[in-house]
Amino acid sequence: MEQAYWSAKARSLQPYTAGEQPREKLIKLNTNENAYPPSPQVAKATADAAVDLRLYPPMDGGAFREAAAHLHGLEPEEIFCANGSDEALALSFLALFDPDVPVYTLDVTYSFYPVWADLHDLTLHPVELDGNFAVLPERFRDAASVVLANPNAPTGMELAPGLLREIIETTDGPVIVDEAYADFGAESALPWIDEYDNLLVVRTLSKSYSLAGIRAGYAAGQRHLIRALETVRDSFNSYPVDRLAIAGAAAALGDQAWHEECCRRIMATRERSRIRLMELGHRVLPSTTNFLFVECREPDAGTVFRALRERGILVRHFDGGRTSDFLRVTVGTDADMDAFLSAMEELSPPAQQTGG
Ligand code: PMP
Repeated sequence: MEQAYWSAKARSLQPYTAGEQPREKLIKLNTNENAYPPSPQVAKATADAAVDLRLYPPMDGGAFREAAAHLHGLEPEEIFCANGSDEALALSFLALFDPDVPVYTLDVTYSFYPVWADLHDLTLHPVELDGNFAVLPERFRDAASVVLANPNAPTGMELAPGLLREIIETTDGPVIVDEAYADFGAESALPWIDEYDNLLVVRTLSKSYSLAGIRAGYAAGQRHLIRALETVRDSFNSYPVDRLAIAGAAAALGDQAWHEECCRRIMATRERSRIRLMELGHRVLPSTTNFLFVECREPDAGTVFRALRERGILVRHFDGGRTSDFLRVTVGTDADMDAFLSAMEELSPPAQQTGG
């Protein structure tokens, strides 16, 4: 009965499971939100924008689009603004990928990709990462369509620029590079947009700009790719980014000093946390993101996840497959991470612990 009036498509979907947004007060290290607030310019800009809310927003993202273009030295026509980068990605899948061309991606990566593939009747071709979760570019040789998160999630690891170029160059069709976390120390593919007509780089303001709450993301690429996205947008929802989000996103992109300081602090906290976790005997993958991927074997990751939760600390555990033994831990404030690290100290086997 429940699904009696559902379409066959809706019945077939297995939706993405987002990290929990708990009601109780927890140390929240589970959805890679920024530990620090957004630039103070954001509150001012959104308050000013509220005056015009009776009007529809500009379809193309207006000031948000201009600010993103200015930041990356691109033309506004090379930017597509969306309601979060999830929307930019969902629309890109529809605009650039075809059902009869397998889309190469990684076997351990952002778990929304298979959901969009199903939604748009696409086939994913998951390429296996090696034993150290590294990408092997030669496994992309036959690819005609690619989507990659770089740095990857949930591993946190970056693909070296030369290897990413190799994949873009050997792929005849579109390559989408999802740079949700690139501002935390990775090299961006944005400067290559003039060089590659098949490259679309997708970015979000949810992480490094502390704006998960307003939903703002964008795609950057040559004009012909952006026009494909606009065509799909105008067949779905012509006004994806509202006036408050446009104003807030433009203000945040305009305050680079705030952004850089936030990223710097998170990277410093990340590195000291990583070192401490390794001293406690855990394998921790190198990260150029605002999270750490931490292996827990004794006790196992599920047990550590629950024990942390009992101590008021929420992290993410992707149970099943190659990620079962790991916890993904968002880098919080120094105080958050001190609480997390002392809980981990209690939970880690004493025999392996070294250092202070
Ligand atoms: N890409 C990756 C790899 C992510 O982890 C996320 C966050 N869940 C997103 C894209 C989407 O971010 P948003 O929709 O908030 O811009």
